Amino acid sequence: MTEWIYTLKFRSSVSVFSGLAVAGLVDRMVMRNHKKIVTVHSPTQNGEVETEQLQKLPFIPGSSVKGRWRFFAERLLQSNGLPDGLIIHKSNKPSCKDPNNLCTLCKLFGSPAFPSMLFVGQAELDGTLQDHFEKLLEQNPNPVVHPDTELRPGTAISRITRTTLKDHLFFNEAVPPVIFSGKLIINDTLNDNEEKFLKASASLVDRIGGRKSIGMGALDGGIRIASKGGDR
Ligand SMILES: [Zn+2]
Repeated sequence: MTEWIYTLKFRSSVSVFSGLAVAGLVDRMVMRNHKKIVTVHSPTQNGEVETEQLQKLPFIPGSSVKGRWRFFAERLLQSNGLPDGLIIHKSNKPSCKDPNNLCTLCKLFGSPAFPSMLFVGQAELDGTLQDHFEKLLEQNPNPVVHPDTELRPGTAISRITRTTLKDHLFFNEAVPPVIFSGKLIINDTLNDNEEKFLKASASLVDRIGGRKSIGMGALDGGIRIASKGGDR
């Protein structure tokens, strides 16, 4: 087993939506991690009061990272001139079925018939930023508009007329461009070409999350991989 750390350095705001909404106010909210209880001091007419509050920080699920990575890995495997041993199943097949005869893509990223060698943990806010985000949340404990995110308005476009639909203004939450990092675990041993291939395909990943049409979720340097405790 090998453990690496990966980093996502965003050049634009990012939204990986949770499916949660606040009726009539925020249509799509970003994913937030497990609850952490913090003490909040708020001034009142009778002096400061102390309350406990649940706080959750934005994160990016590993499945979102892995999905984009797999897409670029597949494209790279379909290109010419790769070293021997890096192969992909025929383009008319969605995945390999025989566990003893897996292509590079199915071996590393898994297939419906075979577990993935690569585990991508969720990307959390970089440690240096967590304090900052926690302070923002403490200053303004608002359950609807989170002070650590931005609200991005958008409109829905009719597929038929290509014009803006009436009454379809929406608001999405987005995390400002910051750094997230998470764990990568590789069960089993990679050969040299597989390791180079994984790192090369990771560096190609251009963006993560929703709303690419307005340039959101753009990455600087793709998924950046460092061996644990080491440099890139
Ligand atoms: Zn395959």
